[in-house]
Amino acid sequence: MSQNAMDEFALIDTYFKRPELAPMQTSITGIGDDCALLTIPEGMQLAQSLDTLVEGVHFPRHCDPELLGYRALAVTLSDLAAMGAEPHSFSLGLTLPAIDKGWLQGFSDGLSKLAQIATIPLVGGDTTKGPLTLSLHVQGLVPVGKALKRSGAQVGDKIHVSGHLGDGAGALDFVLKGDKPETVKNDHVRSLLRKYYTPMPRLALGQWLRDNGATAALDISDGLLGDLGHILTASGVGARLNPEAVPCSSALIAICGQKKATQLAMGGGDDYELCFTWPDRPLVNVPARTGCPVTCIGEITRVPGIWDACSGLKISTASYTHF
Ligand code: ADP
Ligand code: MG
Repeated sequence: MSQNAMDEFALIDTYFKRPELAPMQTSITGIGDDCALLTIPEGMQLAQSLDTLVEGVHFPRHCDPELLGYRALAVTLSDLAAMGAEPHSFSLGLTLPAIDKGWLQGFSDGLSKLAQIATIPLVGGDTTKGPLTLSLHVQGLVPVGKALKRSGAQVGDKIHVSGHLGDGAGALDFVLKGDKPETVKNDHVRSLLRKYYTPMPRLALGQWLRDNGATAALDISDGLLGDLGHILTASGVGARLNPEAVPCSSALIAICGQKKATQLAMGGGDDYELCFTWPDRPLVNVPARTGCPVTCIGEITRVPGIWDACSGLKISTASYTHF
């Protein structure tokens, strides 16, 4: 056995059964048996979502393991945020080419960092050998019948987004070059890289929207136009959108100019902000604890498709994705 050798069970105990990832509640039995045991409180539904990330496809080769651990959990939690669910527990399917203790420590640290912020314990998983692949399965709780769905948008509703859009896509060139937030010199580039690697799932906002009357929501993972399209299709409606109102960060504008920033905000992925519809009454008093601004970018119409509120022309997804 080499000095670095470690069996699967020692690996799980060291990196995934650590106290920072363990359940606090007695209603959850986590790692160690054949199954985790979860008690669902009365009146709640379990919301579940699975995301798989493959090296070289969903994240670059030689990605910093700590950033990867954080990001993998963040993008999965974003689905809970979109439905207005509270984090409950998650499982991890880990396929590793080899046991690399430094990599595992970094990955586990990144995972733990966000798991503690979001108060979500790791309750199980599976560990196998093969090309580096991560599968995260998250579970959340939502009062029965109250989850935010894609299908609830009504004609006349206003369309809003949280935070800024386009930063994730704007970071991509730098990500592919191997730049990291801690080492890059340019403040704007650092800001974009932070958004890419450590997006903050909008959990508090999602729960607030669920309790205060949003009609539909999703998280923007593939780009605003495509993702808004999912709400429109599910709800059987169309949208009038004001591209100039789509919020871009000053960092993104500084790096690539307003025109390209708007293109990235409309068609680029990896933002993990929420897009939601709200009845035609003022959206006021979104509490500060939700942690981000929300911006009105358009409204729901009867006519299918997405239409430019200024020019009146139909907006094609293709015109914004081929940049
Ligand atoms: P089994 O062979 O019964 O499927 P395993 O030996 O794969 O069980 O796993 C042992 C325990 O460790 C289980 O509770 C499982 O959920 C947990 N586990 C395995 N891999 C991971 C991982 N990557 N992260 C978290 N828990 C894990
Ligand atoms: Mg197993």
